[in-house]
Amino acid sequence: MLQLTDIHTYYGHVHALKGITLQVREGEIVSLLGANGAGKTTTLNTISRLLQPEKGTYELIGESMLKKNAGQIVQNGIIHCPENRRVFPLFTVEENLLVGSYTRRDKKVKQDMERVYEIFPRLKERSSQKAGTLSGGEQQMLAIGRSLMGKPKLLLLDEPSLGIAPILVQEIFEIIQEINRSGVSILLVEQNAHMALEISDYAYVLENGHIALSGQSKDMKKNDDIRKLYLGES
Ligand code: ATP
Repeated sequence: MLQLTDIHTYYGHVHALKGITLQVREGEIVSLLGANGAGKTTTLNTISRLLQPEKGTYELIGESMLKKNAGQIVQNGIIHCPENRRVFPLFTVEENLLVGSYTRRDKKVKQDMERVYEIFPRLKERSSQKAGTLSGGEQQMLAIGRSLMGKPKLLLLDEPSLGIAPILVQEIFEIIQEINRSGVSILLVEQNAHMALEISDYAYVLENGHIALSGQSKDMKKNDDIRKLYLGES
């Protein structure tokens, strides 16, 4: 459903993405791995059009997204759940969820909120609590829940396990799989390569703005370089 071909993105003179070609097929979880500064966040920001690529093609279900702005990208069903959660701390949990539905024109918002509360019972218990008082893991759940309120076809998840207690990490990965089973394709940026390869169908490894390696996640788990560099094995 998503196809990037030879995408180049710059920050001023910094050439951050040097010809990225990647694909997410409908129904897949695809992970994007790589060291700090490799260009993972820049790739997601280019897809959600927070950044404008200088060169390359970008299509969603056969339609070019290059001329769309960030709001139109959301309306086309691509929702970006950014790094570091970025919830509105002074809004309640429920108000944060409602923000996620602001581009919607249909009237099923209430129904979708119930669905989010089913997936995240912790958020239901805390629906009238200010988001800034939630734990890091709960804020991450809220950020994902808010993204779901935008009815994504493709969810861009940036480091969902970052800074989260290990016990919640497992829960968050299970929830990501559940969201995927409900029909949402997912592009996942993750430092936790073990978990990312465990739940994804396909994986790309970024190095210095290039795709250095790609393949089925089950094969990548067996790749010697991946095992040494990303899975901490010798
Ligand atoms: P991390 O895991 O550390 O977030 P990443 O793989 O997501 O790393 P990016 O944040 O996409 O990497 O950064 C890619 C490159 O672009 C890096 O060299 C980085 O220094 C540079 N870069 C990122 N943001 C900016 C910016 N706002 N201005 C200039 N250069 C930037």
